[in-house]
This record gives sequence, structure tokens and C-alpha cells, in this order.
Amino acid sequence: MKLPKFEYAAPESLGQACRLLESRGEEAHPIAGGTDLLMALKNRQKFPKMLVDLGAVPNLSRIEYSDADGLRIGAMVSLRRLAANPIVREKYPILVQAALSVGTVQLQAMGTVGGNLCQDTCCMYFNRSAMVRQSLEPCHKLGGCICHVVSSSEECWAAYTGDLAPALLALGASVSMAGPGGEQRLPLQELFSGDGKRPIALRPGQLLAEIQVPAAPPRSGAVYLKLRQRETLDYPLLGVAVHLTLERGENGHCKTAALAMTAVDKAPILLQEAGKLAGRKLTEAQIRELARAAYKRAHPMKNLYGLTTKYRLSMVEVYVEMAVRQALESAIH
Ligand SMILES: Cc1cc2nc3c(=O)[nH]c(=O)nc-3n(C[C@H](O)[C@H](O)[C@H](O)COP(=O)(O)OP(=O)(O)OC[C@H]3O[C@@H](n4cnc5c(N)ncnc54)[C@H](O)[C@@H]3O)c2cc1C
Repeated sequence: MKLPKFEYAAPESLGQACRLLESRGEEAHPIAGGTDLLMALKNRQKFPKMLVDLGAVPNLSRIEYSDADGLRIGAMVSLRRLAANPIVREKYPILVQAALSVGTVQLQAMGTVGGNLCQDTCCMYFNRSAMVRQSLEPCHKLGGCICHVVSSSEECWAAYTGDLAPALLALGASVSMAGPGGEQRLPLQELFSGDGKRPIALRPGQLLAEIQVPAAPPRSGAVYLKLRQRETLDYPLLGVAVHLTLERGENGHCKTAALAMTAVDKAPILLQEAGKLAGRKLTEAQIRELARAAYKRAHPMKNLYGLTTKYRLSMVEVYVEMAVRQALESAIH
């Protein structure tokens, strides 16, 4: 598959990049590692006239940590570099699990944290070459007026399948966006629009610049578990991240709890019910109750290749229970 022709720009500052993106509007797209975007160009799913390469923008590839401010990750940090960073390995092993679960070694080397969060939604009808797609009517995501996943739906039902988002959401991350109006800091959850057609809530000219993760509290444990068909290459068919912090001295008494999922809706899900565990002892009944709440909130659809929707849904409770037990174990030890 050949790439279509496009203009290429490599701005040398964040301000330049934002101004260029703002002036060209919809016809310019930022490019980081290109592992997601270039496939979309080859498949003729996206038609940018210009790609704005963020590779030459300074300061987007830093990883910094302090006990006061926690972890700061530049949007252009590659997944491989994130996973190899000694502080990340020591204090945020969940990020290592999530980053090393993405695709293949080659994709982890090229793919960036910013690109992973801002990746497009997936759908087995949309993510096909133009040649294969020509037998189907264009769907909502391609400017048409049908959804091949839910034929009666006026919405696009493509799934968000990023691996880093649930891990970062469970850790309580926030993001800094750079844009024409200056820098804006938001909870990570607000980066996701919930619209399958346009899943990332960035305005024209806005870029994701940095991700901030609060300092890891003592007696905390966090785990990311990914359901997929093969141990490599595959996107998640379900991803569950759990982060627990325990009260001092009392094994099993929860101080904070967070649970996030991917691949089971149009945006990653941060499950509000997990917060109810704060201040309570984590019993088997409560773990099951949380797993049930996650099961009710998950909406796996027939939009991804691999396992059936029914199987993916049935695995939600199993994965939540496993993740909670593993996070608890790591918080205790
Ligand atoms: C075969 C295959 C398997 C894959 N498996 C997985 C998987 O298991 N899990 C997974 O999560 N992903 C997977 N991916 C998707 C992709 O490789 C990764 O998500 C990767 O991390 C994307 O990063 P990138 O830097 O290459 O993004 P790019 O392709 O450069 O960009 C992706 C999108 O984000 C936008 N973007 C990039 N950086 C910014 C920024 N700083 N601000 C605003 N917008 C930005 C781009 O405009 C584009 O729309 C897979 C891809 C392929 C081809």
C-alpha cells in the first residue's frame, strides 16, 4: 500500500507547531511516531494535506520525577523509553506493563505516549483497505450515514483501544495541552470525547504536550491486564487497570481505589463505582460487587477482530477480580 502525497512540516517549537496546525485547520494533522496515522493514510481512511512532525519540537521527550510533583512524561516519549526508565520501573510498574503490551517491539520503539493516547478508534469495518471497503456503503466515520456494527445506529460504534489510557486513568493522570490560547491542564478523562468518529477532544491547533501522574503513595499497588488473542501484535479486546492504596497498618483497608477499562466502549472508561471502596475493607463480596459494576458498564461490540463479544463481556468480571487481587497483593508487599 502506497502513501498518498502530502506536505511535510517539521516545526522547531511548540508554538510554531500549534500556529501551523491552527492556520491549516482540518487539513493538517500532527504526526508523532506515525504507527497509527500512516496506516490510516495508506488505507485511505484519513486525507490530510499536511503532516506536522512533532519530532523536532524541543522538550517533548522528557521524563521527570519529583516526590512533590510526581511523574511528568513528554508526549513524544516513546513507549520503549517509558518502559525502560528506572523511576517508572520502580514506582509505576503498571505503565511498564501497559507500554510493553502495545503491538510489537517495533511499534513500541516508534510509537509515543502522546500518539498512543490520541490514537483513533478501531473498527473491523473502518480499519480495512479502501479496496476491501468499496463493497460497503461508507460508514459514519467515513462521512456516510450508516454504522456497520449497529446498523440502526446514528452514531459511530468504533472502539477506543489504547493500552496506556486505562493505566494512566487509574493512576489519576492529568494532561497539558498546548494551543493558540496557551497551555491548559485537564484530567486525562477529558481528552476523550466519547464520539467514535472523533474520539480525541482537541480543538484545532491544540496538541497534547505532557502527561502528569501524581507521586505514587506508599502502600499502593497497580496492575494492567490485557485480553487478546495472541501474546503479541494484538490490540486489546479488553484491558483492565486497577490502582489501590491501603490505609497504614490495616491490611485490606482501602484508602483509594480506581478502575479503568479499554476496548469496551468508544472511550476508555473510568469506573466511578471504584471510588466507593475508599475507607472500606476490601472483602471478597466487595471485589465481586466492583466486578459486577464493571460488567454492567462495559459495552463490547462486534467491532474488533478476534474473540466474540459475548466472551469479551464474560471476561470483564474475571479480569477485574484478577486485577484487584494482584493490585492488593502488590500494595501489601
Ligand atoms: C499492527 C498494529 C498493532 C497495534 N497494536 C496496538 C496495541 O496493542 N495497543 C495500542 O494501544 N496501540 C496499538 N497500535 C497503535 C499504535 O501503534 C500505538 O498506539 C502507538 O503508540 C501510536 O503512537 P504514534 O506515536 O505512532 O502515533 P501517531 O501514529 O504518530 O499518531 C496517532 C494519532 O495521534 C495524533 N497525535 C500524535 N501525537 C499527538 C500529540 N502530541 N498531540 C495531539 N495529537 C497527537 C496523530 O495526529 C494521530 O491522529 C497498533 C498499531 C498497529 C499498526
